[in-house]
Amino acid sequence: MATGKGRKELIEMVSDCFAELRDFLRFAGENSDDALRAVISAIAPYQPGSLRQKLEGRQRAMGRSVCEVPTTHELWAIFRAADFRCSECGSQLRITLDRIDPKLGYERTNLRVLCADCNRQRSRPNSAPGSRLNLRVFRAVRELLAGDPETFPSDLEIKQVAGVSDLSGSYYLVRFLRHRWPSRVSTPRDANPEATG
Ligand SMILES: [Zn+2]
Repeated sequence: MATGKGRKELIEMVSDCFAELRDFLRFAGENSDDALRAVISAIAPYQPGSLRQKLEGRQRAMGRSVCEVPTTHELWAIFRAADFRCSECGSQLRITLDRIDPKLGYERTNLRVLCADCNRQRSRPNSAPGSRLNLRVFRAVRELLAGDPETFPSDLEIKQVAGVSDLSGSYYLVRFLRHRWPSRVSTPRDANPEATG
């Protein structure tokens, strides 16, 4: 799909993205097969056959006719029409189909493409913000480590730089990054609350 971005802007965006990806792979163990598999499986579309079975099961559970559920061909057409992007945020990650009006069934005209994060946010508005929070938190950790590569940042520092008041949705991501931080030369500053000011 065409965008309004200029070529130079696009090249800069891609190289920023590669720099972030390279830095994340320092934590993930530089296993390029794993990294590529993760990207492919997050973007690869939902198999229309298994999606149809799932939707039929839900339709049945609501006491509605499964004949209303679109065919696999029609499900694929809905994804194609949306260019395999979330109708709310444009993300291509782990997209699925969701009902527009939850009071209605899974008929063709009541379906739209949503990513996993938007879907979760919609069904459970108070749930943890999912992978978007992880992205902000990772960027904050990356920025802090660029300033001081010897010391893994404290939760307080991460919260301040990420601009979030609650880290609980990314609790285990932070622990994972801390465990994998390649330098591992120092103890976390969390151990000493006074150090974070
Ligand atoms: Zn979305």
